[in-house]
Amino acid sequence: MARIVQKYGGTSVGDVDRIKNVAARIKAIRDQGNELVVVVSARAGVTNELIARAKALCAIPSEREMDQLLSIGEQETIALTAMALHGIGVDAVSYTGAQAGISTDKVYTKAKIKTINAKPLINDLKAGRVIIVAGFQGIDDEGQTTTLGRGGSDLTAIALAAAIKADKCEIYTDVDGVYTADPRVVKYARKLSEISYDEMLELASLGSKVMQSRSVEFAAKYNVVFEVRSSFNNNPGTIVKQEVAYMEKVLVRGVAVDKDQAKVVVSNIPDKPGSAAKVFKALANAHINVDMIVQNVGRAGVATLTFTVPLSEKEKAVKAIEIVLQEVGGEVSLDENIAKISVVGVGMKTHSGVAATLFEALAGANINLELISTSEIKISVVIAKEKAEVAARVAHAAFGLDKL
Ligand code: ADP
Ligand code: ASP
Ligand code: MG
Repeated sequence: MARIVQKYGGTSVGDVDRIKNVAARIKAIRDQGNELVVVVSARAGVTNELIARAKALCAIPSEREMDQLLSIGEQETIALTAMALHGIGVDAVSYTGAQAGISTDKVYTKAKIKTINAKPLINDLKAGRVIIVAGFQGIDDEGQTTTLGRGGSDLTAIALAAAIKADKCEIYTDVDGVYTADPRVVKYARKLSEISYDEMLELASLGSKVMQSRSVEFAAKYNVVFEVRSSFNNNPGTIVKQEVAYMEKVLVRGVAVDKDQAKVVVSNIPDKPGSAAKVFKALANAHINVDMIVQNVGRAGVATLTFTVPLSEKEKAVKAIEIVLQEVGGEVSLDENIAKISVVGVGMKTHSGVAATLFEALAGANINLELISTSEIKISVVIAKEKAEVAARVAHAAFGLDKL
């Protein structure tokens, strides 16, 4: 007998037949005598549809109301999944995030999990019940509903696995594992049998939507080993775990593409101490994640700051910067026609020449680099959005990932 947490993503519970398929899979595992906590997402497309409706009514919707709205997507699927299980004779109960004891901070739309009260869940498990938990949501100290950021059901699953000390955590999705690149973009992408937390975290943060980045961060912190696999077949998936020595032999593990970023250019700000600090302080206060910061200093005592922000936060970012610029001077503009391409691998720590190989490959495809940033295990470039797919394929081939 094992205690297992499974998470089924939006496509896996996308309609009634798929929910029946999930229920049958759960029953099979349950019938082998295992204890099961199952996290489900909203049906594929529902969260996006709700966001579109909100934006049609209000350009910058209240974040509290956003969370009230977005949390309903998962509440539909938990109840339906429990009913599907009842229909095939399995004792199951559905819980919202709050009912499952998931307490968060107060940062609406990207709340962090503070604690999980696992006792009632464990009692249910001991009573032989399958527990279905709404992903992506929690409750703050004042009883307000919060959500955990896009893709947040992954985080719910990993945090629950840590809280109930699960033996296994399985993330079921519509691909059978983590690939060297998004298999929808790069035809020759290969499935990885395993990947380190650090590499998975970089890939996720840099746009590989297969896992939510914060969930990987959480897994690394609490050492939750998890497997990414498909709910449509029984193929072995990809194990995500602590780095082991042989992983460094591979120079580049994968390529990530992020088309959900905007480039912000703040020009003509005074080139003196404090200007940049004020801009980034305002963005931090608005909880906006900034990346790839570059500063160019001109001759007339003014500077240009360029950086990227998530596309979904562009209005909020511009609004926050405009307030600062009224005080310090300067202008802000936005370029949405960009994509970020990154190559990631723990092997970069011990090998050189990765940047040269990447830049040469992109130059060979006539792709211009607008911004560059590097860290110990990744190199990212910003390029024109329409070149994103070609760039990903060229980078994938340049590091030999086509032929793994
Ligand atoms: P779910 O709804 O199950 O959470 P997501 O859409 O969030 O599923 O994530 C699965 C998708 O992630 C896949 O359909 C795939 O297109 C995309 N993806 C991006 N990068 C990768 C990668 N490196 N490996 C596998 N899938 C990837
Ligand atoms: N439904 C949420 C989203 O689409 C959470 C998730 O699917 O993990 O972002
Ligand atoms: Mg997802």
